[in-house]
Amino acid sequence: MTTIRARLQAVDGRIERAARAAGRPPDDIRLVAVSKTFPAETIRQAHEAGQRDFGENYLQEAVGKMELLRDLPIEWHYIGPIQSNKTRQIAERFSWVHSLDRLKIAQRLSESRPAALAPLQVCIQVNVSGEASKSGVEPGDAPALAREVARLPGLRLRGLMAIPEPTDDEALQRSRFRLLRELKEGIAASGLPMDTLSMGMTDDLESAIAEGATMVRVGRAIFGERDRARR
Ligand SMILES: *Cc1c(COP(=O)(O)O)cnc(C)c1O
Repeated sequence: MTTIRARLQAVDGRIERAARAAGRPPDDIRLVAVSKTFPAETIRQAHEAGQRDFGENYLQEAVGKMELLRDLPIEWHYIGPIQSNKTRQIAERFSWVHSLDRLKIAQRLSESRPAALAPLQVCIQVNVSGEASKSGVEPGDAPALAREVARLPGLRLRGLMAIPEPTDDEALQRSRFRLLRELKEGIAASGLPMDTLSMGMTDDLESAIAEGATMVRVGRAIFGERDRARR
């Protein structure tokens, strides 16, 4: 309990220092706690420590935990790969999807979003690392996909997301996050709604915040190392 509370405080401290160093208000950056592989009880502890946004990558695992945590007002973020046979459950259960990279999936999510719920908030995932990564649209294809997504009634376009290849080269890290920010600014200038940049994880959140991240997705710094055998 204390460990998770202390780790959340440490992450908040990192966010705050990085924001101040960039001349940004720390409140502009929202922390999504990435709880994949960790049990519902651990999420409950983080919630008790004040955390409200949680990110999950695997649908079946997420659904099991959601059932155990129904009593908590958690905002769930889907951040993993999306298979087309999973779109209905994702549309029914999550508030956000960060990993949208195909129009077909966007259409299915929109059609499956229950009318009683607010539109599903989505970010388009962009591949900012070239050959090194297979998920996300190519940067040049993001504006066209954003245009299509903005038209879908069950979705609310919020911004862009990226998972750059890990590197210790800070200049390279920054350049990839900068690419995403400039892409977002270009799309916003064309009149589409784009207020979110979902970028930055345990090892690179400072670089992401320096380049304008409004959401950081942090797992290990809050929950500890994941079991490598599992993923
Ligand atoms: C696992 C994961 C994270 C969190 O990564 P950490 O290095 O544990 O902070 C963030 N985003 C996505 C999409 C992930 O899959």
